[in-house]
Amino acid sequence: MTQTIAGLLPQEIQTHGQRFRQMIEQVEANEAQQAAKRVDPLINATPKQRKYILDLATQVPAEIQFSMTTWMNSQPGPLDRKQIHNLIERLKARRVFTKPAEVPADRYALRVDGVVHFYKVERPTVGKYAGRVFVKAQAGDELLPIRGAGAQIVLEQIAVDVEAAYNLYRDELDRCRRCTRTLTDEVSRAAHLGPDCRAIIAAEGL
Ligand SMILES: [Zn+2]
Repeated sequence: MTQTIAGLLPQEIQTHGQRFRQMIEQVEANEAQQAAKRVDPLINATPKQRKYILDLATQVPAEIQFSMTTWMNSQPGPLDRKQIHNLIERLKARRVFTKPAEVPADRYALRVDGVVHFYKVERPTVGKYAGRVFVKAQAGDELLPIRGAGAQIVLEQIAVDVEAAYNLYRDELDRCRRCTRTLTDEVSRAAHLGPDCRAIIAAEGL
């Protein structure tokens, strides 16, 4: 039962070749199986949760986006409600804000629970307040200072998307069609009339 080396080699190579082929087939079969099983991982999320997750995903670093996606796709099925909740918390914790210190002096608006709020960010460059940041809420033509933590929250929210806040201000700010006064509150903007002019028109209508 002696085998020559020459007789052994082709056998070895063949065995290796078979093993390699089987290995490839196995990997391909697994991939096909995974692809067939792959369903929307967020199928159990509410539309609001889905939108929030997609928004949050744009606010985290790319590597976090990548690892979260990999994690979602590695789950045996769609995420359950607890996993969705955890995903939201994990994304929230990894958000990167533009530093509030970087919000340029300008006018901005934020939509909070469907209501648009108007702001002015001031950054004096001269005088005793030079270098400081001031946030004011705009009500009509009036500017009301917001101090401390409130100002910080507004700056942080603007910093999430400075361009969007800038555009929202321009899109939503309105003027009274009767007296051209600036309109900021929801009712006045919907009517394109300020409260005084609404009252006058109502009185004239009587
Ligand atoms: Zn008016």
